[in-house]
Amino acid sequence: MNYSHQFIDGGRSILPVGKVVCVGRNYVEHARELNNPVPSEPLLFMKPATALSAMSELIRIPAYSNDCQHEIELAILMGKKLSSATIDEVKGAIAGYGLALDLTLRDIQQHLKQQGQPWERAKAFDGSCPITPFVKPEAIANAQELEFSLSINKAVKQQGNSREMLWPIQQLLAHISTYFTLMPGDIVLTGTPSGVGPLRAGDQLVLELARQYRFTTQVMANPHSFK
Ligand code: ZN
Repeated sequence: MNYSHQFIDGGRSILPVGKVVCVGRNYVEHARELNNPVPSEPLLFMKPATALSAMSELIRIPAYSNDCQHEIELAILMGKKLSSATIDEVKGAIAGYGLALDLTLRDIQQHLKQQGQPWERAKAFDGSCPITPFVKPEAIANAQELEFSLSINKAVKQQGNSREMLWPIQQLLAHISTYFTLMPGDIVLTGTPSGVGPLRAGDQLVLELARQYRFTTQVMANPHSFK
């Protein structure tokens, strides 16, 4: 793994690379599209540091899946340690905002769900979290009003705005920190809006944040050459 956190001005972050804490079903429309109930508290899961890869790298789909799906999510880079944090502590702890793909092997996940097994093989595999460079918080007017979108081969597939989150960012980070201490360099993915769907070999992806920052990536032409 040669991933390290970057900022959009080209600066490399000195923060270490840590775990990725993810929230499922933080947008009502996405929960409905997969026929999942809207949960009464955040559904949390994790990806290890080995899931991270720079968005500029090719996306690789593991050979054991035929249905690797995109979930675009607003990603938070942690700058300070948070443990059972208050909202005030959360406010000073965010080091950056970016976009991530929570790659999900939907066929494997369905199988694991049916067996009552954990999701790691569907969501935590190597490279399952392509991530963009981060925008510093000073450059974001209101993190709870951030628009973002994913286009594939020039067609818009997912569009969201952080104002539609069931659990807003600060509450979410405080809640997560009551279970898992968030360390500097950890990342939190804040859930995906509706429109998830499959990625195919050679797909060209464009991710946009706040109509201002644009990132591109591509699915490997022969994804099954991996593992
Ligand atoms: Zn997700």
